[in-house]
Amino acid sequence: MDVTFVTSAPDLAGRPQPVLPEFAFIGRSNCGKSSLINYFLGRRAMARISRHPGKTRTMNYFLVSDSYYLVDLPGYGYAKVSKQQRAAWRGLFQAYLRVKDRPQAVFYLLDGRHRPTADDIEVGRWIRDSGHPYAAVVTKIDKVGTNSRTKHYQDIISTLELPAAIPFFPTSAVKSIGRDQLRAWVAAVLAAAEQD
Ligand code: GDP
Repeated sequence: MDVTFVTSAPDLAGRPQPVLPEFAFIGRSNCGKSSLINYFLGRRAMARISRHPGKTRTMNYFLVSDSYYLVDLPGYGYAKVSKQQRAAWRGLFQAYLRVKDRPQAVFYLLDGRHRPTADDIEVGRWIRDSGHPYAAVVTKIDKVGTNSRTKHYQDIISTLELPAAIPFFPTSAVKSIGRDQLRAWVAAVLAAAEQD
């Protein structure tokens, strides 16, 4: 996989050219987003493993194989950010999802160690309402006992009221689980977009 970091965009105007399909990774702060992106890309340190949760407010664009952008959106839900920072994040994310000038798809990340939070539920609604294709991705499944996984996934699906048609991918960056499924979904979305 050929990957280059393109830009950190503070707003929509900062998105790079040329226009290409975008796959956004969105998840709560500390949900394992950076680790998952690095695992997905097969790079040890492309997305920075965040030492200061809640501090990154830019959209980080990576060009993958000259065919699409992976977009690392800022993590949300970090308790210690100010109201202004929270509002800035909501504005950026809602603006990002609302625009229809670029093909977009979303990886909606859920921390496998916890039940979805109120923030997760709200973000899930924004993603669903945006109309963009999306897939739910559970992270850190190595932290869930093999016997409890099925029930844990059902809990997540029912809490979020995830439609049955939404792809659901259990993953672990630590144990290298799930990457092929994520990449296959990207390929399927790209192929479907080409047919339009
Ligand atoms: P981000 O804030 O969402 O970008 O999350 P990070 O990738 O920085 O990960 C947050 C914490 O979860 C770190 O301590 C990681 O080592 C840990 N972590 C990330 N992915 C996994 C995983 O697949 N399994 C386990 N057990 N821990 C993980």
